[in-house]
Amino acid sequence: MSKQRDFALRTIEERGVRFVRLWFSDVSGTLKSVALAPAEVEGAFSEGIGFDGSAIEGLTRAYESDLLAIPDPSTFQLLPWRSTTEPTARMFCDIRTPNDEPAVADPRNVLKRTLARAAELGFTFYTHPEIEFYLLQSQHFGPEGPVPVDRAGYFDNVPGGTAHDFRRESVNMLEELGISVEFSHHEAGPGQNEIDLRYADALTMADNIMTFRTVVKEVAISQGVYATFMPKPFANHPGSGMHTHFSLFEGDTNAFYDPGAKYQLSQTGRRFVAGLLRHAPEITAVTNQYINSYKRLWGGDEAPSFVSWGHNNRSALVRVPMYKPGKGGAARVEYRALDSAANPYLAFSVLLAAGLKGIEEEYELPPEAEHNVWELSDGERRALGFDALPNGLDHALAVMERSELVAETLGEQVFAYFIRDKRQEVAAYRNQVTPFELDSMLGTV
Ligand code: GLN
Ligand code: MG
Ligand code: MG
Ligand code: MG
Repeated sequence: MSKQRDFALRTIEERGVRFVRLWFSDVSGTLKSVALAPAEVEGAFSEGIGFDGSAIEGLTRAYESDLLAIPDPSTFQLLPWRSTTEPTARMFCDIRTPNDEPAVADPRNVLKRTLARAAELGFTFYTHPEIEFYLLQSQHFGPEGPVPVDRAGYFDNVPGGTAHDFRRESVNMLEELGISVEFSHHEAGPGQNEIDLRYADALTMADNIMTFRTVVKEVAISQGVYATFMPKPFANHPGSGMHTHFSLFEGDTNAFYDPGAKYQLSQTGRRFVAGLLRHAPEITAVTNQYINSYKRLWGGDEAPSFVSWGHNNRSALVRVPMYKPGKGGAARVEYRALDSAANPYLAFSVLLAAGLKGIEEEYELPPEAEHNVWELSDGERRALGFDALPNGLDHALAVMERSELVAETLGEQVFAYFIRDKRQEVAAYRNQVTPFELDSMLGTV
């Protein structure tokens, strides 16, 4: 710890760092930032930087608003898109109360608490996200809707296109920030891209995803385009998911790996998947937190709508991927509902909690889906036990509200705030009279 502090302080001095940004997340996953003069950093490490928590969505109640941001020196990085002569650095922060307790509503703390529960059972949680997003010509749009930067499709190589330069620049910048990229490609929608991050422990990864979104937005702006992580910006094109691969390690051993088992998935792995499946509907409000998220989940194009698992089945909610024989370390399971607009700290927390519950309670894994789940009739799906995921945010909130697992994992305050905040979104949406209604009714009724 103190080595990392020393490193940060020395780098600030040697590189002439002009600003140090302290980063943290609110409950919805919006990145918050406060710029610190270099001379204040040492004090911030020991005492924190005070701020008014009640000004930040969901962080406190107004009557206990003083909070402290304590920078985590292990996250110190120079920001590559800022000037090199007067560099800017950033650190993620933990939020604490003046009594020096973790702030219960700090999403990073929610994840740390859940990871500590996993550690009690002997597990480290690793994640590897595939992050999809759209590149648009502009954030502004006319009656035709947003305009993507190209008309290309899945894995297309677009000579001279924006997407190539864009991905190269983003990947370079992420690597400079210590975030390894496994691969990147054009996705199926026009202007849609995907970048997959190399796996890391879940806390590092949640920080990395926050950084990723900022990098992608900055690079887009520098190239005169706009990047959006909105789950479903176009009715007629695929949405942007954030499929995430999970594994649990016990020391150096992948606890999901059993060379003798079907698909080499260990009993621990099977129980983890069973936990994800059983609790999927109640955690969906967190993994898919916007009205718009449900337009992706129910809009086809390989987004999952039903609770099932499969091996090589892209209609399943949980996929147990193939990997090379003897590569047991790579054993993992992929959760496909998550979207690119989720708060990664909270989403990883509820997903891990669901999987751990499956392990602790020794859930039995139901039979795998061997069909294309979308093509079955409702009756067939019912007979096979493939329940539907919630079909809208209000539905998801109603299911979440009854969930002990989610309440325990998020903690009472985040749980209550989340439901209240999201109910407002539902109410605001419901109050709209949409173009669909006007177009389809006004002339006929
Ligand atoms: N875009 C799809 C989704 O929303 C995923 C497509 C893919 O990567 N296979 O989940
Ligand atoms: Mg992919
Ligand atoms: Mg993809
Ligand atoms: Mg995938």
